[in-house]
Formats: sequence, structure tokens, C-alpha cells
Amino acid sequence: MDWDEFSHWGQHISRWAANYHKTLADRPVRAQTTPGDIAAQLLAAPPDKGEPMEAILADFERIVMPGITHWQHPRFFAYFPANAAPPSMLAEMLVTTIAAQCMLWQTSPAATEIEGVMVDWLRQALGLPDGMTGVIQDSASSATLSAVLTMRERATGFSGNREGLNGKGSLRIYCSDQVHSSIDRACWVAGIGQDNLVKLPTQGDTFAIDPDRLEAAIQDDIAAGHVPAGIIAITGGTGVGACDDLIAVADIAQKFDLYSHLDAAWAGSAMICPEFRQTFWPGAERYDSIVFNPHKWLGAQFDCAIQFLRDAAPQLNTLKIEPEYLKTTGAEVTNYSEWTIPLGRRFRALKIWFLLRSYGLEDLRARIRNHVAWAQELAQQIKAMEGFEITTGPILSLFSFRCPGDDDMQQRLVDALNTDGRIYLTQGLFEGRKIIRFQVGQFDTTRDDVLMAAKVIGDVWEKIR
Ligand SMILES: *Cc1c(COP(=O)(O)O)cnc(C)c1O
Repeated sequence: MDWDEFSHWGQHISRWAANYHKTLADRPVRAQTTPGDIAAQLLAAPPDKGEPMEAILADFERIVMPGITHWQHPRFFAYFPANAAPPSMLAEMLVTTIAAQCMLWQTSPAATEIEGVMVDWLRQALGLPDGMTGVIQDSASSATLSAVLTMRERATGFSGNREGLNGKGSLRIYCSDQVHSSIDRACWVAGIGQDNLVKLPTQGDTFAIDPDRLEAAIQDDIAAGHVPAGIIAITGGTGVGACDDLIAVADIAQKFDLYSHLDAAWAGSAMICPEFRQTFWPGAERYDSIVFNPHKWLGAQFDCAIQFLRDAAPQLNTLKIEPEYLKTTGAEVTNYSEWTIPLGRRFRALKIWFLLRSYGLEDLRARIRNHVAWAQELAQQIKAMEGFEITTGPILSLFSFRCPGDDDMQQRLVDALNTDGRIYLTQGLFEGRKIIRFQVGQFDTTRDDVLMAAKVIGDVWEKIR
């Protein structure tokens, strides 16, 4: 392909993209294919001869599009959102075009310097103190793994990387039973082990970790000769939106000199609103590491996770490695690949710059406030439906409910709703019972889209009951 052809197809695809978004609301949200449908339409072996772009794009429409679940659909209420605001898409097109590998300052100074400033813009936007630094990672899972590795190294006097973990005792990490599975996986791969991830029960309307139980667990472990290494708190858990009392947990981390990590992957975006900070964020500034995903609620195209660090040194001591071929000469510069597990890095900061400049914080705040208000309004409507029950009230824009009937009936309703296609929901488990999760957060969703869900749930329920 030459660059004139590239330009032709590039314009074609950007027109296709705009049209896709304009007609998105008419498509079923979740892909309606069955397993194997898509793979069966591909050739079993790679072609020997090249094909024209017309043919490839025609197959894209015919084969690929039916197998896409539309995450940018305004009635996507499943999981958490993965918003791609149009300015962030444009930034990603530029990043794809430049295709720089931004592992070191000198491999693209602009990427490193814009990353530094964007982390600082977001630090300010989330009301975190001056002096906190950070890095952009691909996912919250990677940021949490970095933090857990840092807990491990700090607790072993930074000897684990060199000597391995033999003879280091049982390193223990504490959290509530509401944490995301990425915390479990970080403990698996860091060599901590699932059995040394101590999950404590929660209490109250926000499903916060019980601080007395947390402190007692640490004391018991010390008495048993274990080695407490860190605490992981959450603001906005995935299941029902659990939020820990950040001050109470930070006090305990401080008392026992434990490294602390805060998982705010979803809810962090809402902390651009001062009123939500007042409720959910006091104490956040005391955490050694905080992760939040602008690629979820805020609108920066996937992937984009910010890890804030109170002091970068412990994580650098854990992850930095500098073979001769990566050494840079000259002035002191930041090489962000020393802060993370992968060496290679995409230029992720550009989409944050485009997003924040294009909308400004006021516009982004207004969207999030609307989502929260509409979720509350919808929860009221579902509560009024006969036999329906709100199982966990809205925390920010996430709540859960049950229809009349047993656990199987909940799953039947979810499956029937997703096959209907007008909305998309997922199930969860809370206190041993199946629940239906509902979150509002899609970038272009309207109040009508959200309230329409009550009607769709009612319709589909009448059909399957
Ligand atoms: C989404 C989510 C994660 C995982 O995020 P990835 O970026 O996909 O790794 C972790 N924790 C919470 C609370 C989440 O909502």
C-alpha cells in the first residue's frame, strides 16, 4: 500500500467511524453470535497473495461487525464503561501514525514530558497533594501488580528480586472481601500466594473494611511470625461499589509501617467532582500508590491507567533495571519504563491531553454528575416495580437489584435482556445471592437512555416470568 492509497482508506475509515457512532443506538448492545461463529468464517491458513483493501473491509463489515459488543453504545450498562471520547480517538490515530516506542525519554521526549504533565494535571483534578508523582500504565492490573511487588520488596529489605523468596517467611497483604480479582492475581504472580492475601469482612452502607478486624488480623499475623507487607484499600469496588474508610485504613498502614495501595480504577474518575471527594476521598492523599483508569469513566480511549505515587523511589527500587543498551547519556531525565513492568510503552499521554483540553474539567464533571443522578432516578423506578428489590443502593452510579424469584431467575432475566439487545447488563454475587448490576457511565448516554432501561426490564420480565 502506498501513502496515497493510505490517505484514501484513512478518510474512508474516519467517515465509517462517524457513521458507526451516529447509528450505534440502533444496534443490539451485546454481540448476538454464538461461540465459533466468527472463526468459522476465516480462512484456515494465511493467504499467499495480497488482497485489495475493498475486499478486506467488506469482510470486516460482514464477518467482524456482527461479533462486536458495542462498548460505546449509549445503553451499555454492564461491567464498567470503557469510554472513548472522540478527541481521545483522534489522539490515538495520531499515536498510531507516529508509532513511537516511548520507553525512554530520548526515544520520544514529547511523550515523556507530556506524560509527566498529564499525570500532574490529573493529580490536581483529583485533589491530590503537590509532590505526588506517577506514571501511565496499560491497566489497573499492571499498576496493582507493581504496587504488590513493591510491598514485597520493601518488606524483604529489597532482597526478593535478587535472592528469591525462600526463607523470607509468609509475606501478608490485607484487603477487604470486595477487592477486584486483579488483587488476587497480583498476589499470585508476585509470589505472595493466595493464602497470604488476607480478605476481611466489610460493614455499613459503603461496604467498608472493618478496621478493628484489620488491625487484629495484622497483630495476629505478627504474633504468628508472619511478615505483614501491605494493605490494599478500595474506592468503588467492582461488585457493588464498595468504598473503604480511607483514613481508618491509612492510620493502620501508618501504625504498622505497611505500604498502602488504593484501587480506585473505576470511581477515581468521579473524584474530579469536589462533592464526591468530600464523601469518598478523605485520606486518599496518604496512600503510597493509587490507581485509577481514565479509560473507564473519564473518556480516554482504552488503554490508560494512572498510577499515582507518593514517593516513586520504592517502586523504582523494585522495578528499575538498566542494561547498557538502555543507558542514556546527558542530563537527568525520566525514563518511565523504569517505573513499570513492561519495557515498551505506547504514547498514552496524548489522548489525555486532547480529552482534557477539548472538554475541560467542567464538562467532564457535568457528565459524571448526570450519570450519578440518573442512576439514582432509575433505582427508584426499579424499586417501585412489583416484587423487584434494590439489593445494594447506588454508590456513585452503580447499584444492584433482583427481580422476583430465585438465583436462576436473575440469570434468566439478565440473559433475556441481553438477547433482547436494547440494553446490556451483567450479573454479580453479593452476600451469596445473585444480583443484577446496573451502572451508568457511558459517555454519550442520555437520561432517556437510562430511564428506558426500566421499561425494557419490565417488558422482558413480563415475557419470561
Ligand atoms: C476495572 C477494575 C480493575 C481492573 O482494571 P484493568 O485496567 O482492566 O486491569 C481493578 N479494580 C477495579 C475496582 C476495577 O473496577
